[in-house]
Amino acid sequence: MSATSLQADQVKQFAVALGFDLCGITTADIAAQSDYYRKWLEKEHHGEMQWLARDPLRRSDPRMVLYGARSVICVALNYYHPRSDHPGRGRIASYALGRDYHLLFEEKLAAFREWLTQQAGGQHKVYVDTGPLLEKSLAARAGITWQAKSTINIHPKFGTWLFLGEILTTLELSPDRPANDHCGTCSRCIDACPTQAITAPYQLDARRCIAYLTLELKGSIPLELRPLIGDKIYGCDDCLEVCPWNRFAKTSRETTLAPTEATNRDLRDYLSLTREQFKNLFSESPILRIKRRGFLRNVCVALGNIGTADDLPALHRLHNDEEPLIREHAAWAIEQIEKRLTPKDKHSIFPFFPNFADS
Ligand code: SF4
Ligand code: SF4
Repeated sequence: MSATSLQADQVKQFAVALGFDLCGITTADIAAQSDYYRKWLEKEHHGEMQWLARDPLRRSDPRMVLYGARSVICVALNYYHPRSDHPGRGRIASYALGRDYHLLFEEKLAAFREWLTQQAGGQHKVYVDTGPLLEKSLAARAGITWQAKSTINIHPKFGTWLFLGEILTTLELSPDRPANDHCGTCSRCIDACPTQAITAPYQLDARRCIAYLTLELKGSIPLELRPLIGDKIYGCDDCLEVCPWNRFAKTSRETTLAPTEATNRDLRDYLSLTREQFKNLFSESPILRIKRRGFLRNVCVALGNIGTADDLPALHRLHNDEEPLIREHAAWAIEQIEKRLTPKDKHSIFPFFPNFADS
């Protein structure tokens, strides 16, 4: 299948009707960043994300994902909602404060695929960031965003707060021009990164990135990186928040992406969640993905960094948790908080054991 009477403009109009904020089209040729990607894997900057290392050639070439693919329709959705952070609550990346965007994208992209089939036949495959595609590179080539020094994609009118999705299709659609890079001499994101994960412009060592450490890493968080994580318990927005292009950010039309009560609780309150309660609380949230063990591990790290004597009883209870990973991180948090206690704090916690309090 190749030639189609369907025009690129009709495709873009339908994308807008579905609620996407941006839509661009590129050819299904090999992604421009395939060399960089191969070298990135060789340096093992992907850490434990083994699926990224699986079949890199296929990931770089959309035609190996969908035989006969001619075009890639790239879409983006603005997820920005103003947020209010409170001391002691821990920070969750903005994209994860509301409903899981995968659910939202899957619904919209399924409708898009059906429409394309009805309009022009052909074969189509839809993807949201979990697919085997270099989606940031494709979105840049489709002209909807540029891939910035932070490695995040940016649009001049929406800033950095964008979800990306793709439709591979055997239809031949008129491609757009690639986006221009507007980072210029700016380096704010590089300077703002607390773990120096952006090792140079356009270079990310994922193993140091807080998004990787709090979401992708399954085991223990390296001791030397824990203090740098601060109060973050799921992802990190530091390199996004400083980007000057975000001064143009607009509130998303998707109300389901707005922060929910589940993501706005005191850190201490999360410590008592059972597995069942965790599943219920985050049933429609991307946080569900890291399971209770990953989430409480992260909460313990944040409390180790910002917690107070008031958090110690709940952390001590968690120190007996059935999950060894949680026990280890709770012990670390207790140790960190105890190091910060003043003599007055110690006396208020251990009033009947003055010698211990003085230790
Ligand atoms: S998400 Fe955070 S840790 Fe990762 S590169 Fe950006 S600022 Fe650094
Ligand atoms: S902070 Fe500056 S360098 Fe970084 S992505 Fe934004 S514009 Fe580009």
